[in-house]
Amino acid sequence: MSRYWSDIVHRLTPYVPGEQPVVAHPVKLNTNENPYPPSPRVLAAIRQELGEAAESLRRYPDPTAHKLRETVATYHGIRADQVFAGNGSDEVLALTFQALLKHDKPLLFPDVTYSFYPTYARLFEVDYRTIPLDESFAINVDDYMTPNGGILFPNPNAPTGRPLPLADIERLVASNPDSVVVIDEAYVDFGAQSAIGLIDRYPNLLVVQTVSKSRSLAGMRVGFAFGDPELIAALNRVKDSFNSYPLDRLAQAAAAAAYEDDAWFRGTCAKVVASRERLAAGLRALGFEVVPSAANLLFARHEGYDAATLALRLREKEIFVRHFKAPRIDQHLRISVGTDAECDILLGALRDIFDAYVG
Ligand SMILES: *Cc1c(COP(=O)(O)O)cnc(C)c1O
Repeated sequence: MSRYWSDIVHRLTPYVPGEQPVVAHPVKLNTNENPYPPSPRVLAAIRQELGEAAESLRRYPDPTAHKLRETVATYHGIRADQVFAGNGSDEVLALTFQALLKHDKPLLFPDVTYSFYPTYARLFEVDYRTIPLDESFAINVDDYMTPNGGILFPNPNAPTGRPLPLADIERLVASNPDSVVVIDEAYVDFGAQSAIGLIDRYPNLLVVQTVSKSRSLAGMRVGFAFGDPELIAALNRVKDSFNSYPLDRLAQAAAAAAYEDDAWFRGTCAKVVASRERLAAGLRALGFEVVPSAANLLFARHEGYDAATLALRLREKEIFVRHFKAPRIDQHLRISVGTDAECDILLGALRDIFDAYVG
C-alpha cells in the first residue's frame, strides 16, 4: 500500500498464476502446459529469424502480424480480416473486455470458470454477474438467455474441462443478437467442437484461441480472436491505443510455423488425449470422482481426503497440481495431463500419501 497508488490499484485482486517451481525436475501438472515440445519446424523458424537477427531485430515487428494471421486464417478456412493476433490469449481477452464487453448491462460468465475473468472485469470496471453451473459443473445455456452486456465462457470450461456441445453454443449465439458472445477455446483442440465455423453467420460471436496449450508454445505468448471484421476492428482500435507491437518477430515466426506442421499438432494432441483417459481411469481406481474432460486437464475430488492437504503433500514430493481456494471447488484438484510417465508418478505418490494419511 502506498499513497502513490491510483484508486483502481487499491481495489484490484490480481490473478495468481500457477507456480513455476525452481526445483530441478518437478512433475509439473499445475498450469496445463503441453508435456511435449513444439514442432521442430517452430525451432527452425526461430533459428532462421535469429540468423537474420542483426538486420531484423533492429526493426519493429509487423504491427498487424499479417503473415501469421494469413497462415492461421488459411488453416481455419477463413479470411485474415476475421483474425486478431495478440500477446497470448490473456491479452486478447483483456482487449476484448475493453473493446466489446463493457456496456450498461452486466457481462455474464459462470460462477466456476477461468479466474482471470473477474480480475479483468475489476481492472476494466466492467459490471458482471456470475451464472451458477449445475451440480455436475455443466453450463446450461438457457440460464444466459437474459438481458446482458456480453457473455463469456471457455469451451471446454476451465478449471473443469467439461465441454459444451456446439449446438448449444449456436442456440445461445442466435438468441443473443444484441451483445457479443465470447467463447474462450484455450482447450478446444483436446476434444471439443470449435465455434470458428459459425463466425461467418453470426456477427456477435468472437472465438478466442491460443498456441499455449495444444501447440506447446506457452513460452511464446501468442493468442488469437476469430470473428466478424467489425469485432476484429474493435480489438485493433484498443490494441493501437495501448501497444501497437504486441507480438515480437520470433513469436510471429514461431506461431506461424506451428500451424504449418499439422501432423505434429495432431500427434501430440492424440497422445495427450490418450494419457488423459488413462489418468482418469487411474484416479477413479483410487476413489476419485473425475469430471468428464475434453481438455488437457482433469478436475477431481476424493471423498476421503482434503484437496488442499493433498496438493501440499504432493508438492513436498515435487509434484505440482493446482488447488483453488474458492466456493464450490475447494475440495477439487485440477491436474494437467502430463506424459504417461508423469501421470504414473502422480498416481504412485497419491497411493503413498493415502497410506500415510493423517487428516
Ligand atoms: C490458459 C488459458 C488462457 C490463457 O492462455 P494464454 O494464451 O497462454 O494467455 C485463456 N483462457 C483459458 C480458459 C485458459 O485456460
